[in-house]
Amino acid sequence: MQCQLSAHDGDHFGLLGDDGMYGAALWLRWHGMSEAELVVLPDCPARGDESCCLFADHAERHTWEDVPEETPCTG
Ligand SMILES: [Zn+2]
Ligand SMILES: [Zn+2]
Repeated sequence: MQCQLSAHDGDHFGLLGDDGMYGAALWLRWHGMSEAELVVLPDCPARGDESCCLFADHAERHTWEDVPEETPCTG
């Protein structure tokens, strides 16, 4: 599982799927070597040229703000 966020501090988040949920998705949250936990988080409401694939109040940039050459967070 790879963290979906751009390089950042704090908890890492990997998307498991939206599982048919409307406006929310199932995420795996972990920090360092600690055990990961399942969390249901509301979708990020931000919209640019395309919608953001992350959850509400996530750290760092929205997915549509990511610069392709930049290395994503590897958790
Ligand atoms: Zn991360
Ligand atoms: Zn976002």
